[in-house]
Amino acid sequence: MRKINYFILGIFLFVSCQSVEPKNNEIQPKNIILMIGDGMGLSQLYSGYIANKGFLNAERCKHIGLSKTHSANSLITDSGAGGTAIACGYKTNNKFIGMTPDSIPVNSILYYAEINQKATGLVAASAITHATPASFIAHNPVRYNYESIAADFLKTDIDLFIGGGLDHFTKREDEKNLVDSLKAKGYEIALNMDQVNAFTGKKLAGLLYDKHPPYSTEGRGDMLRQSTIKAIETLSKNEDGFFLMVEASQIDWAGHDNVSDTLVQEMIDFDNTIGTVLDFAANNGETLVIITADHETGGYAIIDGNIENGEIEGRFSHDDHTAVVVPVLAFGPQAELFMGFMENIDIFTKMYKAFGFDTEALNK
Ligand code: MG
Ligand code: ZN
Repeated sequence: MRKINYFILGIFLFVSCQSVEPKNNEIQPKNIILMIGDGMGLSQLYSGYIANKGFLNAERCKHIGLSKTHSANSLITDSGAGGTAIACGYKTNNKFIGMTPDSIPVNSILYYAEINQKATGLVAASAITHATPASFIAHNPVRYNYESIAADFLKTDIDLFIGGGLDHFTKREDEKNLVDSLKAKGYEIALNMDQVNAFTGKKLAGLLYDKHPPYSTEGRGDMLRQSTIKAIETLSKNEDGFFLMVEASQIDWAGHDNVSDTLVQEMIDFDNTIGTVLDFAANNGETLVIITADHETGGYAIIDGNIENGEIEGRFSHDDHTAVVVPVLAFGPQAELFMGFMENIDIFTKMYKAFGFDTEALNK
């Protein structure tokens, strides 16, 4: 009897260890969760480790690369071109969303996931119409055309999105009420976190704030992580898997404002969300997680501090984006694809390849 118990325990341990990170790169991920820290360079990432007194969830990713972020028309990308590169696999001009420099619309990984029967979702700690999430859904030569970007959500079959930006759907120049249009398309609408948490259906439009969610986690609490949990719970119901993009939008804003404390808060908020996602991926075994940034913001440097008490003294060399390569961390099946130096557009190609989608179907 005891022998059998040890045998069962042995199998259990074997399976548990396997589920930490599947090593077999022959396995194709059923799900991809792409996590973008807007403006997250290596210093921003490492500030989370110091502030957490020597702990960072992102460290659980053993496959690490570096992404070159320059856009089609500038060494320094903005979040429109940076988002488009990652989402669609094209270097484009700054301020462009989902288009080539010649203004030709191009499809995103979210679109390809949709046509390959996967459930799809976007979660952002900004307006959902802001450049990074917009790059996965919209096509526009001007990233600030928020109302037009909001209308593009209705042209897709995205299953779930959660962020701010309600005004872009309801207080519009064309006087259309896109929330009504979303309801007509079968979406439930959530206007606050309680409604997100109570949601048990299939299609959710979470428009939690008129404009952006509050700047800093003191104002919006655990919104990013809780929204991500709901997104995973909802999209997991699809038998064919899912694609989800999660953006920690405001690391970038703290970089522009040169406020180190807020930057660190935003980084920890992102890393807490990363921890929850990696827990899911480790248990699930069929989920590839990619954590990266569209660019670095602020030329941030850690010039002093203390790991024991979590103190950080940060300095900024700039109030805008910089050219430096940004980290790419990957976890799960096909994580090996994301090692070494790469162009930001390669992140799209590698996700497309990892999913095993038909390469001949690209942009047709
Ligand atoms: Mg962004
Ligand atoms: Zn920025």
